[in-house]
Amino acid sequence: MRQIIAGNWKMNGTLAGVTAYAGALRAQASPATLIICPPFPLLPAFASAFAGSDIGLGAQDCHANASGAHTGDVAAGLIKEVGAAYVILGHSERRADHAESNAVVAGKVKAALAAGLAPIVCVGESETERDAGEAEDVVRTQLTHSLPEEFIGLVAYEPIWAIGTGRTPTPADITAMHAAIRAALVAQFPKTGATTPILYGGSAKPSNAGAILALPEVGGALVGGASLQAAEFLAIAASARVV
Ligand code: PEP
Repeated sequence: MRQIIAGNWKMNGTLAGVTAYAGALRAQASPATLIICPPFPLLPAFASAFAGSDIGLGAQDCHANASGAHTGDVAAGLIKEVGAAYVILGHSERRADHAESNAVVAGKVKAALAAGLAPIVCVGESETERDAGEAEDVVRTQLTHSLPEEFIGLVAYEPIWAIGTGRTPTPADITAMHAAIRAALVAQFPKTGATTPILYGGSAKPSNAGAILALPEVGGALVGGASLQAAEFLAIAASARVV
């Protein structure tokens, strides 16, 4: 399987920029499976721009319910209908900004799966938790309670203190955490846990991507800031390998 490089645009991007960005991605053969997760309003434009390519499209959140009185929220079914195949869930910014608990994330994962979307479920410890030696326990608890029993999808390990800071864990720390996540997934999901892709996220950029993507159990990367420029995103993807 090719490593997966997913771009999380967060609350960035414009409709005017979609054609050039998508064109740049389409123009360059990549050793990775590419996924772009833009803000909701850009999904239809990206779906058109990626049509006929193998570049994946994802949203950054969905509601746990299929429809209803939830002003401002978006249903997984609609995300699927406009052409996305993935949805990022449980990102630490949503856990913090919208008080999303593991139980809330699990409800969203269920909704995504019911709609036919592949969830990319984010887990990761704070700096305080890492300093206290609790990082693996924190992540294991997030996995246990954020992933429902029907879970099939991707997991992204994103240490909160590495997101947007330019700091990354040491290779040894990434290796240890990915091994811990793999063990937890195998225990929780005996049929699929061994093959669930585990992405690394947090200040991934062209200069560190080769070293990170070479580590065991790293199935790819979830990229925030460095995904906004197509050239930078493609430079990260150029380091991908078959795992
Ligand atoms: C993210 O928030 O998913 C992320 C990985 O951000 P950045 O690459 O900017 O650290």
